Amino acid sequence: MDSQPASHTRQRSADLFARAQQLIPGGVNSPVRAFRSVGGAPFFTQRAEGAHLHTSDGDDLIDFVCTWGPAIHGHNDPDVRAAIAQALENGTSFGTPNPYEVEMAELIIELVPSVEKVRMCNSGTEATMSAIRLARGYTGRDKIIKFAGCYHGHVDSLLVKAGSGALTLGNPDSAGIPASFAAETIVLDYNDADTLRATFAQQGADIAAIIVEPYPANCGLILPDAGYLELLRELCTAHKSVLIFDEVMTGFRVALGGVQERVGITPDLTAMGKIIGGGLPVGAFGGKAEIMNQLAPLGPVYQAGTLSGNPLAMAAGIAALKKLKETNPYPLFETMGRTMRAALLDVAKAKGFPLQVPQVGSMFALFFSEQPVRNNEDATSSQTQHFNTLFKYALDHGVYLPPSAYETCFICTAHNGRDIEQAAEILAAGIRSI
Ligand SMILES: *Cc1c(COP(=O)(O)O)cnc(C)c1O
Repeated sequence: MDSQPASHTRQRSADLFARAQQLIPGGVNSPVRAFRSVGGAPFFTQRAEGAHLHTSDGDDLIDFVCTWGPAIHGHNDPDVRAAIAQALENGTSFGTPNPYEVEMAELIIELVPSVEKVRMCNSGTEATMSAIRLARGYTGRDKIIKFAGCYHGHVDSLLVKAGSGALTLGNPDSAGIPASFAAETIVLDYNDADTLRATFAQQGADIAAIIVEPYPANCGLILPDAGYLELLRELCTAHKSVLIFDEVMTGFRVALGGVQERVGITPDLTAMGKIIGGGLPVGAFGGKAEIMNQLAPLGPVYQAGTLSGNPLAMAAGIAALKKLKETNPYPLFETMGRTMRAALLDVAKAKGFPLQVPQVGSMFALFFSEQPVRNNEDATSSQTQHFNTLFKYALDHGVYLPPSAYETCFICTAHNGRDIEQAAEILAAGIRSI
């Protein structure tokens, strides 16, 4: 099973990274890629196919990052690639409406239960930023509630206790954000129903919106207590606040219709991204027509984008969504996710080692802690050095886990039984070695 040479010098990557660090802050265009949390230098990827990354150093890695979520069909999926190639024949951007935008909107509205109207943008960050602005414009209120550990992109007012990237860098609040912006954001603990009720009792009339990752997945993976998401819906309805589900990660991932389909709760607005771009840069937000109609050009809330609805990104996303619809991979994801979870828990048990493996379908995370993790504080008090040791062992043996203890691992349709079995064996050996 151990096809990889033991830890070798990743010389090409080291050379590229040395050049990059002279040119790009930290050598990366997104901070978690720098491996600061797990230590060591990042590898560069030359090519990716299916569930495998082929690095600039000649390594073949079974990939559980899947480009941080979008690659649900694996890398370089032939159907997505063909759709992009076909769109490319006609040009890369028009600056006018194009037919793909209509097809994409029809697909999203068909698949995501709460969405009556949708607007495309270029990233998950744009989606949450715009949803927040829309909620404020619609309600005429300023305050928003977010939960510690939930990440909603690098939006000023949302970059407060914001999960993985910020957590692993050790500066949860970014410099450069005016205190007055952050003051409009109320940060609460996820799964704490009493504080949420009390906050609405005191300030309900000022609260424009709750924004939540319904399954927080940017501080490991946290699942809601029974009735908790229902309470969010009830309180927002009672106080005329807007309930925003940030399903940038969970949308089309845990079910075609995301968490909202699984739990049967209808948010007012939903932020989307990642999978809907098929690996190209995309975001989207949608929801109740009455609220969406407040957007320009119909209403007073301004939102725009030169490349929004880009034909290549739409073609890639449409191909990815159609393939999910046609193949329904979700039952298989559940089986593969459970297999992985059971293998990891077995070895931890045999070693008498505290390990929690929260898992939903194709998403799972490892917390080296005695207790189930219910919120950000539980997540950050787990033994991250154990995760870091496991990360290095796995990488040296051909398995790429996310380079931070606070990220979620993803399974894709291109992972076959052998990939899962082999990866589970390597991770088990890694846990034994801790
Ligand atoms: C990734 C992510 C975002 C941000 O999306 P970008 O495309 O990186 O801007 C927002 N919310 C959640 C839940 C995410 O996982």
